[in-house]
Amino acid sequence: RRVMSSDSDHKSATLEADPLATQPQKAWDQRKVVQTAAKVEPVPFDKEKPPGHVRFVCVSDTHSRSDRMGAIPDGDVLLHAGDFTDLGHLQKVKDFNTWLGTLPHPYKVVIAGNHDLTFDPKLMQEIRAGNRPMFWAVRDEEAETAKSLLTNCIYLEDSETNVMGIRIWGSPWQPWFYDWAFNEERGKPILNKWNLIPEGVDILVTHGPPLGHGDVTITGQHVGCVDLLNTIQKRVKPKYHIFGHIHEGYGITTDGTTTYVNASVCTVRYQPVNPPIIFDLPTPEEA
Ligand code: 5GP
Ligand code: MN
Ligand code: MN
Ligand code: MN
Repeated sequence: RRVMSSDSDHKSATLEADPLATQPQKAWDQRKVVQTAAKVEPVPFDKEKPPGHVRFVCVSDTHSRSDRMGAIPDGDVLLHAGDFTDLGHLQKVKDFNTWLGTLPHPYKVVIAGNHDLTFDPKLMQEIRAGNRPMFWAVRDEEAETAKSLLTNCIYLEDSETNVMGIRIWGSPWQPWFYDWAFNEERGKPILNKWNLIPEGVDILVTHGPPLGHGDVTITGQHVGCVDLLNTIQKRVKPKYHIFGHIHEGYGITTDGTTTYVNASVCTVRYQPVNPPIIFDLPTPEEA
């Protein structure tokens, strides 16, 4: 007779923090013989969308410079992986929302990044308390209203949306770097955010890269999140992972299961010259 599994066995368990969570370069040195991060060529903008597909158009790190970008290809869903402003000034958020409104994509899905300060209420409290003099310029911004200004998109923050039958999860967190918004310590604290991602999402959107994909800085170091890579490979297995943050890591790679898209529009010198990245997914069958 088959023994019924206990409740906790039904879902695959969330993960434990990686022993090398705080040393991404070392973690990659240990893994790189068994890990694949094969370069993927981008889909040309003039490639026609195959019938029965949903076209996604990915951008990230536009940093209030979207008016200086090149052409944005048409598609069904625009995805923006954060850092749409430099400091989150509400006027800049309004400008971003206005720009979104000019784009033809029927769906637009947006997360915040570490530069979108006013979207992080905990950080804004610290700024107002005088604990973050570096961000004095936004001390009087009404953070409570930031999210409500994004009327032309679906804003995700540790949450999910379903667009044309495709499940998308968005999360703004990245490993701590110079006290900006949505920073979490590597290891258990940031893994707690990744443990919120449900299994079965098709597209994962985070601001920062996982270890080993689009995560090499200008000084040649891998700085991606080790526990995000573990979460993707061992538990969530999305078809696509979209992110930015490490501008110099722009481009597409694959591990054979998940395709990783660093869609940073801005270069490391904040020039908005990298083109959007497009991909097509089959439209799921109607239930
Ligand atoms: P942003 O300030 O727009 O979030 O990131 C801009 C640049 O800062 C990135 O392209 C990268 O060069 C650098 N940067 C951001 N996060 C990290 C990090 O965690 N480690 C290192 N070494 N550099 C980072
Ligand atoms: Mn400013
Ligand atoms: Mn950025
Ligand atoms: Mn960033």
